[in-house]
Amino acid sequence: MSSFMPEILAPAGSLDKLKVAVLYGANAVYVGGQKFGLRTAAENFTTDELREGVIFAHARGAKVYVVLNSFLHDKDLTELPEFVEFLDKIKVDAVIVSDLGVVRTVRKHSSIDVHVSTQASTLNVEAAKLWKNMGATRIVLGREVSVKEAGKIKREAGIEIEMFIHGSMCMAYSGNCVISNFTQGRDSNRGGCAHSCRFEYSLDMGLDTKEKRKAYFMSSKDLEGIRVLPEFIKEEIDSLKIEGRMKSHLYAGTMSKVYSEALNYYKDHGDFLSEKLLSWEEELGKVSHRAYTEASLVEPAGADSIFNERENNTDNEWQMVGTVVEANAKSGIIIEVRNAFNQGDYIEVIPFEGAAFALNTQEMMDLSLAPVIRTRPSTLVRLPYQANVTVHNLVRARGTK
Ligand code: SF4
Repeated sequence: MSSFMPEILAPAGSLDKLKVAVLYGANAVYVGGQKFGLRTAAENFTTDELREGVIFAHARGAKVYVVLNSFLHDKDLTELPEFVEFLDKIKVDAVIVSDLGVVRTVRKHSSIDVHVSTQASTLNVEAAKLWKNMGATRIVLGREVSVKEAGKIKREAGIEIEMFIHGSMCMAYSGNCVISNFTQGRDSNRGGCAHSCRFEYSLDMGLDTKEKRKAYFMSSKDLEGIRVLPEFIKEEIDSLKIEGRMKSHLYAGTMSKVYSEALNYYKDHGDFLSEKLLSWEEELGKVSHRAYTEASLVEPAGADSIFNERENNTDNEWQMVGTVVEANAKSGIIIEVRNAFNQGDYIEVIPFEGAAFALNTQEMMDLSLAPVIRTRPSTLVRLPYQANVTVHNLVRARGTK
């Protein structure tokens, strides 16, 4: 049985999501500051939040990586040294970069580890060696590389390797795309991707009916690599990355929990029980997603990795209805409500370990002990105490209300 264990690297679009990901088992999180990252629409961290996030993660043995993976013009570079020095001071574990100018600036102004972003589309041993010579300590490979190829790159270039195991995909070479520049005037290489590839397009190729001309020909299915975990371990891939800094708390928590549980199970047993695998896949199916594919993890992605809207089955999708803010025998379970639910509704709490279970919504009260029939977002509701419910646990309900 291999003793090698990759880290599970989860997205954290906000300080709250960082805490959720770490508490649900992620070994590391990646976050964006206010500038220089590729998710301009994510909430992104202020400098105070970055400092707090690093302290929170380090106290629980998790690492924090900061994305600086935009391609920058000279005028954008001027503020970078100060920011890099700040990241070094608060002991960020690594920065994720794509632009050579950013690599040089980071090297010049700090001793922070440099991870080369998937934006750099590193696909081979020679490119990996070159990045290593320039001071990079890890490479996030392009999604076009298989796990087997990645193992070879790691062995021959002698550098840490990170690969995507889950999340949305690009129809371009891992982000190097200009569809959104042309259609929306938003530069995907500087944080503005409008996900233009997900839209429905009409083909004008002499096809006769409107129906025939419609197609989602650029929209990729989402990546799900849980069945490939043994391969990742065998090839000693250092870090398994979950895409999605702009996705929900429920997504950050579910992904961190499922993948870390699966990894720990494999470490203890050297194999997966098929019913375990099915239960993890069921959990991964409960968060909002397109149909899943293993993309190029084993074989090069083919036509079956294109997402056709008709294939999507959203019947089993759940949404987060709140977070547990207090749980003890005296006060009961107090939930901060995100999405309304009613007395008698079926809702579940997701514990940090083990399977989700139902909460009793028959006797809901507000903080002054008045009965509640329907909760309201941004309020607190009290439920009877149940064992194994902990502060920060997420609460979910099936479908949208
Ligand atoms: S439009 Fe699609 S392919 Fe292009 S960068 Fe955005 S997600 Fe990737």
